[in-house]
Formats: sequence, structure tokens, C-alpha cells
Amino acid sequence: MTTDKEQYKVHAEPFYQPQGDEVELYEAAYAARLPVMVKGPTGCGKSRFVEHMAWKLGKPLITVACNEDMTASDLVGRYLLDANGTRWLDGPLTTAARIGAICYLDEVVEARQDTTVVIHPLTDHRRTLPLDKKGELIEAHADFQLVISYNPGYQSLMKDLKQSTKQRFAAFEFDYPLPEVETSIVAKETGIDTELAAKLVTIGGAARNLKGHGLDEGISTRLLTYAAALIKGGVEAKAACRMALVRPITDDVDIRDTLDHAIDATF
Ligand code: ADP
Repeated sequence: MTTDKEQYKVHAEPFYQPQGDEVELYEAAYAARLPVMVKGPTGCGKSRFVEHMAWKLGKPLITVACNEDMTASDLVGRYLLDANGTRWLDGPLTTAARIGAICYLDEVVEARQDTTVVIHPLTDHRRTLPLDKKGELIEAHADFQLVISYNPGYQSLMKDLKQSTKQRFAAFEFDYPLPEVETSIVAKETGIDTELAAKLVTIGGAARNLKGHGLDEGISTRLLTYAAALIKGGVEAKAACRMALVRPITDDVDIRDTLDHAIDATF
């Protein structure tokens, strides 16, 4: 990774509709350089919030989508072999610590616990990152901050953060926005009118009531914006809803029919 700070800057304001006082609280956490955890269901605005905050604070943002095959070297860096021999390549976490970026580890529970522990020395008073293989100890730049997100709904015994990791973060608990707020998000994000946005939000609400009754997860705000974008592009409303709101979230015929009926009743 190169260490050109500019390329990680968020140049245009990402639209973010606050749900409460999270913007102010994040600013306070950043001022104290506290590591931050953002919890909540998928597609409810966690990543958008972090992008917005990086823009607002004028700090570079380096995002890493975590997965179970990720190793500590994928975060920290590794030696590469090339024609001239070996050369060290910083990983995203190391780059962020060097340049003073906000490092956002998205869906951190996906990573194995032996990978997650590399963040520990960066999250306490040490604010250091040992590059063991390189024999270097990095002191994090004063602007560096670590942010992680995860979806507690997917939590299982095998996939949970250790208490020793959790207790290094200040946390935000996100949920789907309240109907009026979500309506305004869907309308502003896609340019559809408020009345139509409100109908999509109603269908979203109906699906969220089925969570735990055949659905693992409700319809996300992200999917509502997909339906809105399809309708805006000329797709008939019911077809757009079936395609963007129902088919992605369930393979169960009964649940599918229930949601399709909710769509028919709304439009
Ligand atoms: P996740 O919680 O999975 O990180 P995202 O932040 O990617 O979800 O949000 C998914 C989409 O939902 C965004 O691209 C945006 O269109 C919309 N969205 C959700 N919440 C908000 C919000 N509060 N303000 C603006 N857009 C939002």
C-alpha cells in the first residue's frame, strides 16, 4: 500500500442522516482517540456513518472488509518476493497507523480471533503496532483511530469477539432507523418522493416483524434504497419490491408469499 494520505481522504460529503446524538458522541470519542465499535444489523448505516465521520473530521479512511481467511499479515503487512529480492509491504492497518487514518475493520467477527488480537496494542495506551516479521515497532500517528463494526445477530460461540477485545472499545448500538427517519433517508438517497419512500418503509417494517419467525434478518435500509432506485429507473413498484426486498432475503416459499402479499397490499 502506498502512504499517500490524499488518496484515502473522503472528498465529497457522504450523505448521513443521524438517528440521535451519534455524530457528537463520535466526535468526542475521536477527540479522546478512543477505539470505536459500531454494532447493528446489516445495511443499517454503520459504514455510511463512519465514512461521514471521516469526512467531517477531515481524516483519511482505510476500510478493510474482514473475512475468515484473513490473517494477521493481511492487516499488518508481509515481505514480498520480486526481481530485486524481498521487500516489505505494509498492510492496511500499518498504513493507517503510519499516516494517521481512521482504520475501519468492517464485520470484524468474520476474522479469526488470532487475527483480531493484532489490534490490541493499538487500542490501549501504547498505541503501537509491532511488525514482528520486520523487527519494527510503529508508534501510531496522533490522528490514528481504530473503528470496528459487527452484526450481533450473526454472533455464535465460534464467532464472537473476545471480552479482552470488546473491552477496548467505546460502542454505538445501531438499529434500523425509525420510520420517519428511514423514509427521509430513502427519499434523499434516491430522489424518489416521500410518499413512495414511506410505502417502502412500511414493507420493510412488515418484514422486520418476521425476524425470528422464519427470517434471520429484516429488510435493510440498503435494500429499501435498491427498490427505490429501481422504481426511479422505471421499474413497476411491485416488481421492484419483489426483486429488491423479498428475493434477496428469503428462500422460504411461505415467507416469500407473506411478503409478496404485504407488497400487493401496499401498492
Ligand atoms: P452497514 O450497516 O451494513 O455498514 P451501510 O452503512 O453500508 O450499512 O448502509 C447501507 C445503505 O443504507 C447506505 O448505502 C445508504 O444508502 C443507506 N443508509 C442507511 N442508513 C443511513 C443513514 N443514516 N443516512 C444515510 N444513508 C443511510
